[in-house]
Amino acid sequence: MRIEKKKVAVGSRPDGSEMYLPVIEMRGDKGPSVFISMTVHGNEVTGHKSIWYLMDHLEGMELRGSITIASLVNADAFNYTVRGFPYSTLDLNRMFPGDSKGSLPDRIAAKVWDLASRADFVLDLHTAGLCIPFVLIHPAGPLIRDFIHEVALSSGLTCLYNYDPSLYSRIGLNRSLTGVAVSNNVPALTVELPGTVGIDELGARAGFIAIKNILLKLDMIDGEEEEIDFFPIIKGENMKRMRVLSRSSGLLDYRVCLGEEVEEGSVLAVIRDPFGNEVEEVVSPKRGYVVQLNGFSRVFTGGKVATLAIEMES
Ligand SMILES: [Zn+2]
Repeated sequence: MRIEKKKVAVGSRPDGSEMYLPVIEMRGDKGPSVFISMTVHGNEVTGHKSIWYLMDHLEGMELRGSITIASLVNADAFNYTVRGFPYSTLDLNRMFPGDSKGSLPDRIAAKVWDLASRADFVLDLHTAGLCIPFVLIHPAGPLIRDFIHEVALSSGLTCLYNYDPSLYSRIGLNRSLTGVAVSNNVPALTVELPGTVGIDELGARAGFIAIKNILLKLDMIDGEEEEIDFFPIIKGENMKRMRVLSRSSGLLDYRVCLGEEVEEGSVLAVIRDPFGNEVEEVVSPKRGYVVQLNGFSRVFTGGKVATLAIEMES
């Protein structure tokens, strides 16, 4: 396996410093090409350590195909530990496929899409705060749908289909990297790892094992599938994610844990005002499993209290 690390120019900042995409290319013999992007959201960095584990693992190993990694897609957001750009309200993961002659954020998106669109499989690594790690499946056409489903299952992580179509489009996920990839028949998955600020150590390990399992599935490396036994894994094959929002605001006093199974009507959290009074009991609207909680422990009116995994039919 040959490894090459390069800076792909995107533009420059007002102070004259160069904006570039750090790209790591690992090339082996004939085989599929995988593209991995990280830190599209600047404050989501757990995946970096997953890739450090991966590079250590692949050293001296035979690789069939190639892995191209854009390791720090949104460098300015990363520098200032924010999700979007410090100089604009745009969300880079709602801007794909970008525009090579547009604004700097558009040009970053275009450069990343140029790399991703040539791949046989795309993995976009994110973090979802206080969560169990999961693989997110976007709505794909019949040509690639089953293949994506199989690869998602091979990861060993909880597999969730994305929100219902109306919400999916309304919050712009059809303009995310994975959303645009699958709508162009490029097989892709979003990987959501734990991490609120900085690298979540166990999340990074889970991300590494999931990527390794996927590379095995794509027959790019040799080895045995590894089980992820240090996080709850929800085994259902046809689960989707669903948000539970608050009616009121305040501090969150949770009554459930990550991975816990809940019934319709189970109390997920109590919302308290600054005086400690209970102002709302947030209950589960469906039977399902707790995938994500609000790591900030505070919520605005209509804010997210939890994400559940629920059966697709329900
Ligand atoms: Zn993200």
